[in-house]
Amino acid sequence: MFQVFVDPTIQRLIDATPGFMPRAEGTYLFDLAISCPGSSDHPLVEVGTYCGKSTLYLASAAKIRASTVISIDHHNGSEENYPPFPYFDQRLTHPTSHDLDTLKNFRETVRLSNLSDYIIAVVGDSNQYVKYFPKDTASFVFIDGGHSAVQTWTDFIDWSPKLIHGGVLAIHDVFEDPSQGGRPPFEIVNALRHSKTFKELVQVGSLAAFKRET
Ligand code: SAH
Ligand code: MG
Repeated sequence: MFQVFVDPTIQRLIDATPGFMPRAEGTYLFDLAISCPGSSDHPLVEVGTYCGKSTLYLASAAKIRASTVISIDHHNGSEENYPPFPYFDQRLTHPTSHDLDTLKNFRETVRLSNLSDYIIAVVGDSNQYVKYFPKDTASFVFIDGGHSAVQTWTDFIDWSPKLIHGGVLAIHDVFEDPSQGGRPPFEIVNALRHSKTFKELVQVGSLAAFKRET
């Protein structure tokens, strides 16, 4: 048995990249993504790229698996990335539109990482793109896009059938205590706990994970 770690140079870049992925959770994301079943024909999927912080954990795993991470984001931010919410980062606004625009920053993250061979960026709405994505295809699905009730549930309902059998579904920002964060990811996890299709794996911080069993 040997343990695989994120390359220290990549880890430094991850640490310097704006985003919402504490190191312990990112390391778990990487561990889940290297250990789930599937071949290079079965990509890792991420909904919610932002500036690429979590994407680099997944791209590091994709490199080891000789696979690819497909990361989806319209790059205009979620509700909570705008004032008055604390997740608003003025530096990431477009100079003329004043909308959030994380694409340039993400592209620079990818360039600095030298992991572009393992990353496919989809710049668009996850609700639209999912229609063209075949079911039973992804070895791993990470849901971290829009956090409203409708968007989180839509991403879960649309993307979970895209997993292959044995594939792993990871959901971010799962907080049991409502004072720590929004309810939708926690509600989905509760529903999954009653499902026969998914088996719960360990949760690390706010990152919950389930294995598709049927
Ligand atoms: N995973 C990132 C954080 C993602 S933040 C990290 O660890 O750093 C959530 C992202 O979801 C935002 O960048 C926002 O633009 C994106 N998003 C929200 N709704 C979306 C939708 N319907 N389609 C695509 N992306 C969406
Ligand atoms: Mg998140």
